[in-house]
Amino acid sequence: MDFELNEEHKMLRDMCREFATEVIAPRAEEADRSGNYDYEVMAKMADLGIMGIPFPEEYGGGGGDWMGMSLCLEEISRADVGLGIMLDVNSLTAHELESFGTEEQKQKWLPPLVSGRNSGAFALTEPEAGSDAASIECTATPDGDEWVLNGNKQFITNIGLDNSSISVVAAVSGKSKQGKSIINIFIVPKETPGCRIGRKYDKLGLHSSATHELIFEDCRIPRDYILGGEGRGLAQHLAALQVGRLCIAACSVGLAQACLDASVSYAMGRIQFGRPLIDFEGISFKLADMAVAIELGRLLYLKAAWLKDNDLPYTFEASAAKLYASEAAERIASDAVQIHGGYGYMSEYPVSRYYKQAKALQIVEGTSEVQRIVIARTL
Ligand SMILES: Cc1cc2nc3c(=O)[nH]c(=O)nc-3n(C[C@H](O)[C@H](O)[C@H](O)COP(=O)(O)OP(=O)(O)OC[C@H]3O[C@@H](n4cnc5c(N)ncnc54)[C@H](O)[C@@H]3O)c2cc1C
Repeated sequence: MDFELNEEHKMLRDMCREFATEVIAPRAEEADRSGNYDYEVMAKMADLGIMGIPFPEEYGGGGGDWMGMSLCLEEISRADVGLGIMLDVNSLTAHELESFGTEEQKQKWLPPLVSGRNSGAFALTEPEAGSDAASIECTATPDGDEWVLNGNKQFITNIGLDNSSISVVAAVSGKSKQGKSIINIFIVPKETPGCRIGRKYDKLGLHSSATHELIFEDCRIPRDYILGGEGRGLAQHLAALQVGRLCIAACSVGLAQACLDASVSYAMGRIQFGRPLIDFEGISFKLADMAVAIELGRLLYLKAAWLKDNDLPYTFEASAAKLYASEAAERIASDAVQIHGGYGYMSEYPVSRYYKQAKALQIVEGTSEVQRIVIARTL
């Protein structure tokens, strides 16, 4: 086994770390407080090629791999996990297009996403269908040369960004003989009449990430905007989510690392009982546990990415990485606030922001319970 990153991965990680530290981190607090999306930073991420790392060069991507992408996600999320989630959802959408699109669809829709000129959204969740994705109610009815979409999607990342161009939408096109919904995926350009962005959600944290309702009212798209095989939509969406899970694991490790960095530095500087906090076992043991959990989360997401890059099955590893790293991030963020004491609860200390952001990671792209269901099925 070789635990050493190759030179390319090291260079990519270091470039992302430098960019995240110098450009993103100083603006992250303000972005989170104001809820204004930082288009300037997104443009810089696009200029650096960050948006398309694992996608083929022929579509404008970086020709790299998911190992590189996940290392990048860790670094971006260490500075601002809201931007990490933006990048994750864009990659997940592009990945579904790349995996299941026709050549014509890929030529048309992939370059804007992987270049970062536009961002993509992944629309599955509905008011009555979250974990139980097969029970979605949004419909797509064939009508001549078109599909007509009706229904509501909720909690959709990226669709509210000014630069978002398309969403890949799961909708029901009929019932099978067994009475099961036939689910297809559709590429829906945001500007299509009848496609409307609903309210912006007022969230607990993650204000630098856009989360909106997406509403379809007699939204007509051409027949050839179906993505992949008819009736295979749910399987495709769930396959794409596997990549999302390894990405969220990397985001979680980045956020947890930010918590550890802040906690070590605070514990070295804060004097109580005449000694820095780090001299007390009650504090240093917490820091040690944080460091071990971060290392484990990192190894899990790197293994999942390595399997994916080598075309090997990675269902267990992607879910295990997402489950472990997101649970660890929430625990670590809580411990980081505890180490900071009362200061940690104050908005001026970044750990209070990390604490509010960490919770979302246990929910997005399949809750911890859903990851356990997926993992148990592989046993
Ligand atoms: C910030 C944010 C961004 C998001 N972005 C997107 C996006 O871009 N696209 C998108 O489609 N969705 C998105 N989501 C939605 C997210 O994927 C769902 O919230 C998630 O899948 C859970 O669905 P739900 O909220 O309906 O909860 P529910 O499915 O109603 O679950 C409620 C609780 O019950 C548990 N539960 C449900 N079923 C079981 C079971 N069988 N066994 C044990 N426990 C169970 C769940 O784990 C959870 O704890 C986002 C959510 C958030 C918070």
